[in-house]
Amino acid sequence: MLERIREKLQILADAAKYDVSCSSSGSNRKNTSQGIGDTGSGICHSYTEDGRCVSLLKILLTNHCIYDCAFCVSRSSNDIKRAAFTVDEVVELTMNFYRRNYIEGLFLSSGIFKNADFTMERMLRIVKKLRLEENYNGYIHLKTIPGASEEMVTEAGLYADRMSINLEMPTESGLKLLAPEKSHEEVKRELGIIRNKMVQFKDERKLIKSTPKFVPAGQSTQMVVGATPESDKDIMHTADSYYKTFSLKRVYYSGYIPISNDSRMPVLGTAPPLIRENRLYQTDWLMRFYDFGIDEILNDTHPNLDMDIDPKLSWALRNPFFFPIDINTADYKEILRVPGIGVRSAQKIVASRKFGKLHIYQLKKLGIAYNRAQHFIRCADSPFQLNEKEPHTIKQIILNNSKSKYLKHPVDQLSLF
Ligand code: SF4
Repeated sequence: MLERIREKLQILADAAKYDVSCSSSGSNRKNTSQGIGDTGSGICHSYTEDGRCVSLLKILLTNHCIYDCAFCVSRSSNDIKRAAFTVDEVVELTMNFYRRNYIEGLFLSSGIFKNADFTMERMLRIVKKLRLEENYNGYIHLKTIPGASEEMVTEAGLYADRMSINLEMPTESGLKLLAPEKSHEEVKRELGIIRNKMVQFKDERKLIKSTPKFVPAGQSTQMVVGATPESDKDIMHTADSYYKTFSLKRVYYSGYIPISNDSRMPVLGTAPPLIRENRLYQTDWLMRFYDFGIDEILNDTHPNLDMDIDPKLSWALRNPFFFPIDINTADYKEILRVPGIGVRSAQKIVASRKFGKLHIYQLKKLGIAYNRAQHFIRCADSPFQLNEKEPHTIKQIILNNSKSKYLKHPVDQLSLF
């Protein structure tokens, strides 16, 4: 019996590793006097060498699936070992692992057996049992099953911290190519249900304090990158539109790992596009925290991100007229656009300059990457020959000085700025 559970765990954890949307930020569920766990602290993200998050018990309920999405390892035509947990098995595993401190939360996804509601009903029973019978207050990220009924999706939102449903391919045409049975409309419907309920519950909580929380860590989605020929512009426009329409907490970009010899996709053995994946995350960051419009970074003349430099530096080199900016007079949003200056450094610059003009040594102390930023700024003691260099010369200097690991090891992940 134990052997079978172990085997199921191996199969269903392995099948779940392709889903990268498992960040656990943003929830503050508190422990209760009789309960176990809380999400307020101790939840952290750890990543495997290839950049995938493994901090949660990350499993599929089953890898049986009635669909045959070409990019998915669980597709019905794939000749692999299949397994399915029972409701009780998932609950017991979660509680046992949590008590032993192996995990800090549960990430539960599933293939679709029989139909969407049949599968969703089991997922719902798991989260209800964990919360109501086991008093489990740890983090739960639940993937929604496409096509599940509104009632079940809504009820699940009362027990999960985060819910998500994968867009899979960035465009409807890409999805139709590899998963003709699925549609973005179905995904939009469920994202719309959760968005509306989140607003409704939040409003009700303002009036009635005892109104339960609904998906307190928000909802997210994931796109597979590199399986279909969409440009980075296509991908980021989709992300931008979903962020705006469905108030998403995160969009995840998952570089496609070839798992099939289907001629519509990259051949087996092709390296997953990890640098591209990271450039997309950097662009996502620029959109959300640096006030960049997506058209500024990706447009018809520049439809794909540079792989050798990050998107912020790329934008700066394509817009030399914007620079140099004077650190001592520019507004916060202008400072944010300088390569080598992040959100915290920009805030510190604005706060510090109230006490006098900033010099180079002070900027370095505030944590900016001066080697990079020096080509784009003026401060109290800047040398005079600024901005004389051509963008391609600046790029070369920065690349030569770069200590970036990935230049030496092309398959490593990059950090975000
Ligand atoms: S429906 Fe989901 S689990 Fe099933 S084949 Fe498609 S992507 Fe895979």
